[in-house]
Amino acid sequence: MNSILWEKAAEFHGHKCPGLAIGYKVSLLAIKHLDIKDNIEDEDIVCIAETDACGVDAVQVILKATVGTGAMRILYTGKQAFNIFNRKNGKKARFVLNDMKNFDSKEERMQYLLSADEETLFTIKDVTLDFPERAKIYNSYICDKCGEKTAENAVSLINDKYICNSCKG
Ligand SMILES: [Zn+2]
Ligand SMILES: [Zn+2]
Repeated sequence: MNSILWEKAAEFHGHKCPGLAIGYKVSLLAIKHLDIKDNIEDEDIVCIAETDACGVDAVQVILKATVGTGAMRILYTGKQAFNIFNRKNGKKARFVLNDMKNFDSKEERMQYLLSADEETLFTIKDVTLDFPERAKIYNSYICDKCGEKTAENAVSLINDKYICNSCKG
């Protein structure tokens, strides 16, 4: 077990939990399956997570697929599934957590996740989603209603006025 990465993920997330272990293990599996090298930079790896739970934090830390660089998106389906794309070599896969037996405690569940082979924890499927382009710089507009500056992809032109998504409701 690569405990350095696990500790890094836990430090970022704030605690150790089964959910974080899922994200840690899916990251290790992605590294193997998508030939992710040590020298990854921002935005080389893109993740579309189908969950917004703890595991997302481990993926952000380990694969450097962060919300701030646009390389981590949440497309919520409520599934423990992660679509991961390696821009360096074009490899991609959807990793879906398999059903697990019930455990008496969170601690037992976490220990099981940490000790199991990544290959037995997840099913690897084809990706059907389109991955986002590299982060774009958007122009901004002042919303005519609230006066706040808003990126162009979140503004609508209504009756010749720029209206932000918050004002549009
Ligand atoms: Zn957690
Ligand atoms: Zn507004």
